[in-house]
Amino acid sequence: MTQPRGASVGDYRAPLFVAWQLTNACSGRCPHCCEDSGPRRAWPDELSRPAALAVAEGIAAAGVPYVAFGGGEPTSAPHFWELCEVLSRGGTNLKLETDGRRLDADAVERLKGWNAACVQVSLDGATAEAHERLRPRGSFAEGLAALRRLAAAGLGPEWVFAPTRLNLHEAGAAFDLAAASGARTFVSGPLMRLGRAAADWGRLAPSDEEWRRCAEALAERAARPGAPRLSLYPWDIVAEVRARRASPQAMILIVPNGQVKLLNALPFAPADLRRQSLGEAWTAARSAWKSPEVSDFIGRLLADPSLLRHANECWPLREAP
Ligand code: SF4
Repeated sequence: MTQPRGASVGDYRAPLFVAWQLTNACSGRCPHCCEDSGPRRAWPDELSRPAALAVAEGIAAAGVPYVAFGGGEPTSAPHFWELCEVLSRGGTNLKLETDGRRLDADAVERLKGWNAACVQVSLDGATAEAHERLRPRGSFAEGLAALRRLAAAGLGPEWVFAPTRLNLHEAGAAFDLAAASGARTFVSGPLMRLGRAAADWGRLAPSDEEWRRCAEALAERAARPGAPRLSLYPWDIVAEVRARRASPQAMILIVPNGQVKLLNALPFAPADLRRQSLGEAWTAARSAWKSPEVSDFIGRLLADPSLLRHANECWPLREAP
């Protein structure tokens, strides 16, 4: 049967979505981090301001509809706001994943001026105690204040809750606080077995049954009139890899030094935006999904999820696509 146009990544001349990890630095040292980010964890070769601006210009010129900034803490990159300006001027919608600590009134005004499509604030509890236990150098008060500021500005912020054994008991209360604070959406899903979370999996990961009960309790709350929308990621990371092998998304992931990866769970970096254009990177990424090397690795990863320990590495393809 012929696939409808748009069903395959081959149908797109540019990615529909770019996830951009601007820096690996942040103020956290969270045990459940799916990267290995933290203070003084910036990569030594992170993109300079001029290089990052050139990448942003390339994204806008290619007509990419949507860029999601993550990290580390993306707002800690000194050129973060300039990149937003370039992208927004070029017609690219902005998404931001943040701890909220730099989103003062001026920052929120700027995001509003660009009509930011989605601002997600990570808040891992209903209390400072639970949040800061998981995010040792984070600030619950500052994150919550930022979320409220975004809500007051009409930006419809999203509350992101990463479930672990240390905070699962506060998920329901966190949902209630999200509702009272003006969050548009409460986002959660199975903990990702990547980065430091993978290294401490036994202590951190809720059992399937604990997560199922938590998800049910959240769904009950979300059914109440006027409640925020509940967005629960349906898969764990292994299921995600399996699904993406069968049907890759029209997206790329840019890591802090400008290399381009296929997915945060896979170590392959088939392109490098320090040397290649976005169009070339997109061609290389689409080819990489079809390469025997990537396919073989995914097969081995599905049989042995401990290979996810390589997720945050950057491997060139042995056979350039
Ligand atoms: S979860 Fe976020 S704040 Fe915590 S270490 Fe990772 S990137 Fe930093």
